[in-house]
Amino acid sequence: MNELIKLSVLEMRDGLLTGNFSSVDLAKAHLEEIKATNSTYNSFLTVTEELALSQAAAADVKLSLQKSNSPILTGIPVAIKDQLVTEGVKTTCASKILKGFIPPYNCTAVKKLLDDGAVIVGKTNQDEFAMGSSSENSAFGVVRNPWDIESVPGGSSSGSAVAVAAGQAPLSLGTDTGGSIRQPASFTGIVGVKPTYGRVSRYGAVAFASSLDQIGPFGRCVEDAALCLRAIAGKDKRDSTSMEVPVHDYLHEIKKFDGHLKGLRIGLPKEYFIPGMDKEVEDSIRQSLKTYEKLGAEIVEISLPHTEYAIAVYYIVACAEASSNLARYDGVRYGYRYPEAQTLSEMYEKSRSLGFGAEVKRRIILGTYVLSAGYYDAYYKKAQQVRTLVINDFKAAFVNNCDVIATPVSPTTAFKIGEKTADPLQMYLGDVFTVPCSLAGLPGVSIPCGLDSKNLPIGLQLIGKPFSENALLKVAYSFGKETKFDTSKVIGRRF
Ligand code: GLN
Repeated sequence: MNELIKLSVLEMRDGLLTGNFSSVDLAKAHLEEIKATNSTYNSFLTVTEELALSQAAAADVKLSLQKSNSPILTGIPVAIKDQLVTEGVKTTCASKILKGFIPPYNCTAVKKLLDDGAVIVGKTNQDEFAMGSSSENSAFGVVRNPWDIESVPGGSSSGSAVAVAAGQAPLSLGTDTGGSIRQPASFTGIVGVKPTYGRVSRYGAVAFASSLDQIGPFGRCVEDAALCLRAIAGKDKRDSTSMEVPVHDYLHEIKKFDGHLKGLRIGLPKEYFIPGMDKEVEDSIRQSLKTYEKLGAEIVEISLPHTEYAIAVYYIVACAEASSNLARYDGVRYGYRYPEAQTLSEMYEKSRSLGFGAEVKRRIILGTYVLSAGYYDAYYKKAQQVRTLVINDFKAAFVNNCDVIATPVSPTTAFKIGEKTADPLQMYLGDVFTVPCSLAGLPGVSIPCGLDSKNLPIGLQLIGKPFSENALLKVAYSFGKETKFDTSKVIGRRF
């Protein structure tokens, strides 16, 4: 194994600027690691070796000309979730229906990384169309967790989380609709950021549930994730829901942390400590809050009374939007087409029933049902009304009680492969702590805060007010700074 893969992005930047190594060295080190470990983890669906080496060579030229004036990500390897379209590079969303699809353009977030000189090492495996929490819904095989290869890495951005956790790339992009960045970050012991809805352009992110989807970064430390977020954030005229809000230099701001958080009120929602959750997860979260108290923050109990409805609301709204978004895969314009159809309707029917996996079909059926004439009011409309109540819970907490909310990311640590596949509802219930934040469009960060007795990582979720990523990342950063808890240094890691 090449030691270069263990560096943080800032250390890589230093090495590139001092000439200790080149972007091509970095790209080769990571490509080698992917080659050596992908058969174990199955985290990459496509490895873009040639492209990466040519992008790295171009980055080296840029570095030699522009030196420290070059963008901070120049020559830094990144991995991209297969949900994001990449020009000339296969993009399948881990679905058979898009097998072999080569998009003619780049997703805005990817384009921004490329404009900054980043080097794309490949496209990562995931749950099909980002529907799932374990990677077990990928049409191309399950992704394995580097902490225990018999356990899932979480989902749906499974491969992106594993790529970073296992040293296949220092940074990656995922998408988060109801937890798909935060939960795999927590299961693999890394940092994941779901930005405020509207912070990052969704242009080129294949749509699952358009009122919830957001693109965000994974990194092994808060600083790395912060500088990646800065690179991809901002208004984009191609996504009307992206917002014209200033993008801070997050890294610069978090570095201003001076060792205390006096005056900060951290809300602990009482509804988030539920029966059935792992005792070790609960203990670890409570322990983490002591660290924040030590730093001068005040912990206040808050109530988010509609939390218990969030899962139901999420699975109605997300499925409804998915059923509409996925109507485009009809075998006509792109993707899989059943070759032997005799009639048009047989072509539609067979292309879709053979092209989509079971979970995607389940959601299309559920979504179509809740939108159908006789049931619209009872399900979809009602869910939208309750969504407003969930949003108002957060609003009230932020207005009256606290600046940031702290919760577990997931009620359990990584579970075994196959453990929940027979019972979709059980799988859905695992999203209980991540979906409310998504329904409210708020930013959420997952940071590693401990290990359980099986040596599996535990994640702490920090939720902020809309567009408060700056403050939120500072709170996230302060935890690691104070505790020195750093999963990337824990013995037992597979790299
Ligand atoms: N696990 C959730 C689901 O299955 C969230 C997925 C996501 O955020 N893309 O829908």
